[in-house]
Amino acid sequence: MSGERTPRYHFTTRTIHAGEAPEPMTGARGVPIYQSATYAFTSYDQIRSWEDGEIEHFQYTREANPTVAILERKIADIEGAEASVATGTGMAAISAILLHFLSDGGHAIAGDQLYGHSGDLFDVDLPGLGAQVTRLDLRDLAAVEAAIQPNTKLIFAETVSNPYLRVADIPALAELAHRNDAVLAVDNTFLSPVLYRPLEDGADLVMHSATKYLSGSGQTLGGVISGRRELVQALRERIVKIGSGMAPFTAWLIIGGCKTLSLRVERHLSNAQRLAELLASSPVVEQVNYPGLAQNSEFGTIQRLNGGNAGGLLSFTLKNDPDTTRAFIDALQLCTIAVSLGEATTLIWPYREGLIRLAVGLEDPEDLIADLSGGLAAATAVLESKLASV
Ligand code: PLP
Repeated sequence: MSGERTPRYHFTTRTIHAGEAPEPMTGARGVPIYQSATYAFTSYDQIRSWEDGEIEHFQYTREANPTVAILERKIADIEGAEASVATGTGMAAISAILLHFLSDGGHAIAGDQLYGHSGDLFDVDLPGLGAQVTRLDLRDLAAVEAAIQPNTKLIFAETVSNPYLRVADIPALAELAHRNDAVLAVDNTFLSPVLYRPLEDGADLVMHSATKYLSGSGQTLGGVISGRRELVQALRERIVKIGSGMAPFTAWLIIGGCKTLSLRVERHLSNAQRLAELLASSPVVEQVNYPGLAQNSEFGTIQRLNGGNAGGLLSFTLKNDPDTTRAFIDALQLCTIAVSLGEATTLIWPYREGLIRLAVGLEDPEDLIADLSGGLAAATAVLESKLASV
């Protein structure tokens, strides 16, 4: 299966075609799931030729798998990267990056707001390995610069942070990292390659929890890392040793997901903008975190970064939490109360601290507006009865 790069085509065409070609033996157009642990060689000499790099061959699926390789070529193409490597989950991708740069010590700088388990890796696991970590608000570039030490190897940023949706100035962070011989790795899960490609702005590595927008199905977990060939190869060797690579069935699902990525993300985006505006106009809502709103502190940065495309996720708080939050959540009929994001179904999750995270799906916006309006009405009734009893 050759699988050509497709730089001459526009982004959406590449999400569909890149990395793929009809399977040569049968002409099957759909990518086959190569569900095999091992690969047969036909002779002693064939093995030696493969080992000497004279011919291409697969040997063992933990090392490389044809279905996974197609996904990796597709992702590299759409990210504008030299190479990509796929992992079993998004966390496996982040772990591989952190182990690669910091397992023999050194210093890392990471955002003070990160997906919880990513934060734990920086707070608990890296110090356990003897590495030093500074976590801070990456929007404060002077503080980032001041935190850089002679042994700083890595700056790790979420483009849009989980769950308050702060926006990192990726070009400025890349410049700071490179001026100090460090590497910038970016978790771009919330924006997807449709809305932003950090490698084009100087990042050294970009990773995604492919569980989210890349898959789009909400029916599998996966991760991908993209960047320069030698760096991705070094990460691949670590992933092969740890055994945290992607399974062929997962890759097959995500290849299918990529083909509708542009269309889906467009709809996630337009739905999210409408819901953010609805929430921002409600008197029971205390604060809405969505960089696409002109009144949001991140509006200017997201405008500069990608023309203002803030993605499909937002978070907000209600006045008089937790009573209003309880009423709001329990009144919803369409949104599913669940974690995660990037799938067709709108998912909503109330954190104990009062923050509600809304991962906007692909439903008809009118139905979502009706559902959230029902929740807001229930919350307003609670708020009014509280005020009346004061
Ligand atoms: N990065 C971000 C921003 C996430 O939201 C998540 C999961 O929610 C991850 C990484 C981890 O990805 P996974 O669940 O695929 O391991």
